Amino acid sequence: MPIVTPLTKLLNIRVPVVQGGMQWVGVPKLVAAVSNAGGLGVITALTQPNPAALRNAIKETRSLTSKPFGVNITLLPSINPPDYAGYARAAVEEGVKIFETAGNSPGELIRYFKSNGCIVIHKCTTIRHAKSAVKLGVDVLSIDGFECAGHPGEEDIGGLVLLARAAQELKVPYLASGGIADARGFAASLALGAAGVNMGTRFMCTVESPIHENIKQTIVKSSEQDTVHIFRTLHNTARVFKNKVSLEVIKIERRPGGAKFEDIRDLVSGQRGKLVYENGDPDYGIWSAGIAVGLINDIPTCEELLRTLEKGVEDVIGNLNAVVVKSKL
Ligand code: NAD
Repeated sequence: MPIVTPLTKLLNIRVPVVQGGMQWVGVPKLVAAVSNAGGLGVITALTQPNPAALRNAIKETRSLTSKPFGVNITLLPSINPPDYAGYARAAVEEGVKIFETAGNSPGELIRYFKSNGCIVIHKCTTIRHAKSAVKLGVDVLSIDGFECAGHPGEEDIGGLVLLARAAQELKVPYLASGGIADARGFAASLALGAAGVNMGTRFMCTVESPIHENIKQTIVKSSEQDTVHIFRTLHNTARVFKNKVSLEVIKIERRPGGAKFEDIRDLVSGQRGKLVYENGDPDYGIWSAGIAVGLINDIPTCEELLRTLEKGVEDVIGNLNAVVVKSKL
C-alpha cells in the first residue's frame, strides 16, 4: 500500500522520504538513485566547488533521472565563505524547483526561491525557528531533532518532543529529521504528525553513496554510542563520528580558557573530512554521522532501502492496529 501524504502530493514522489543535504555525499549518482527509487534526492550545493560546477551537477542528475530532485543550501560558519547567492541563482537558472535550506539567517535565500516559484523545505531545530520560516513562506519544514548528524542547534531537544510540539503548533506539512533509519522510526514519525521523513546517515550507507566502502562498513559496525558533539563551546554544535580527531577537538575545547576556532581549524576542516570519504580511513578527519548509525546494519541499494521501508511501515502500522483491536476485546 502506498504511503500517501501532503509531501508525496506536493513533490510528486512515491515515498515520503527526502535524502537530506550532506556535505561530500549529496552528489548526482546518489541523488538520482534516491529519486529513481521514489524518494526525493537532494544535491548538496556546497559540495560543488563553485556555482558553475553546481550547474554541471544538476545537468548530470537530469541525465540520470527524470524524477523530481532538489538542491540543498546550508548557511553555517565556513572557513571560506561560499557564494550562496551564486549557487542559488545557478540552480534556479538550471530550472530546479525544489530547495532544502538550512542554517542561520535563511530569509534572503528563502525569499529568492519563493519569488522564483520554487518549493522550499526548510530545516530547523526549534519550533520558534520553524514559525519564523513559515512567515518567510516556506512550504515544508524539516524538523530536526537532537539525534541528527551535523548541526543540531544549541537547544538539545530530542525528536520525540520536538515533533509532538510541531504537531501542536505548525499548520504547514513537516518532515521528521534526525535519528530515522528504519521502519519503526518512519512509522513513529507519521504517528507524530509528520508528512514524511528526512534521512541522511542512512543514505550514506547505501550502494550508490559515493563514500569509501570502509566508511560504510564502519557505520554498519558502529553503535548509537559512536557519535560525539564538537563545537559546543563555539555555539556551532555538530554531531560527528567519534574518532581520534573529534576526541582531540573536544579535548582542545575543554582546555582551561576554552578554544578559539583557529585552535582547531586544521583538525576540523571540511577538506580534511572529504579525504575520509575518499580514502576510507575513519580516523583521518571529522565526518558527520547521526546516532542512527546504531540502527544501520546493511548496505542496500536505494531502491531496496525504500521498498523495505515502505513494507516495514505497513507492517508496523498493521501490528499497532492489531494491538489496538486486541485491547478493545
Ligand atoms: P569548513 O571546512 O568551512 O568548516 C568545517 C567545520 O567548521 C564546519 O562544520 C563549519 O560549520 C565549522 N566552522 C567553520 N568556521 C567556523 C567558525 N568560525 N566558528 C565555528 N565553526 C566554524 O566546512 P566544509 O565541510 O567545507 O563545509 C562548507 C559548509 O557547508 C560549512 O558551512 C558547513 O557547515 C556546511 N555543511 C553543510 C552540510 C549539508 O548537509 N549541507 C553538511 C555539513 C556541513
